[in-house]
Amino acid sequence: MDKDILGKIEIQQGDITQLDVDAIVNAANTKLLGGGGVDGAIHRAAGSKLLEECRAVGGCPTGEARITKGYNLRARHVIHTVGPVYSGKPKDSQLLTNCYLNSLKLAVDNNLATIAFPAISCGVYGYPIEDACKIAVDMSYEFLKRNPSLKKIIFVQFSPKDYAVYEAYFKSTSPS
Ligand code: ADP
Repeated sequence: MDKDILGKIEIQQGDITQLDVDAIVNAANTKLLGGGGVDGAIHRAAGSKLLEECRAVGGCPTGEARITKGYNLRARHVIHTVGPVYSGKPKDSQLLTNCYLNSLKLAVDNNLATIAFPAISCGVYGYPIEDACKIAVDMSYEFLKRNPSLKKIIFVQFSPKDYAVYEAYFKSTSPS
């Protein structure tokens, strides 16, 4: 993988709601009305206006993405995407790829330069982190090659274990 493109990808461990970026991505559900995990944390930090705007958006099919403002978050926007519930079937990886692709497209279409992703589908939805990590990083790398206006993609892992998976994958792809 190319060093300059890889330099635009960052991995962090922590709480995505604290990041000062153009957009944080929410691992939402199809109703877009909040929930547990990262979705709940984002809604709590953004305040009730986020729920109001989500209500007006009116839902989002699996694999697609929708953009709202960030309200009380430091992030200017929230991009809501709905990951697949892991079933072990080939369609899972296609849907997860679409989540990353459609979120990144929305960012570029809205002239955003920095975006942060949680591990979509890797909590309650049960997607194995090792497989999801490859999809996230490979898709983002290809997207960055074709979209130079995007300056930074951050992958934020809540748990040290998930962070270690990302770190190991990065080591294996980086030129020595
Ligand atoms: P899904 O339903 O898509 O699986 P979850 O919210 O259950 O979504 O989990 C997605 C990932 O987000 C998990 O890896 C979980 O550890 C992580 N997560 C939960 N809270 C936060 C947070 N505040 N910041 C970043 N990641 C988080």
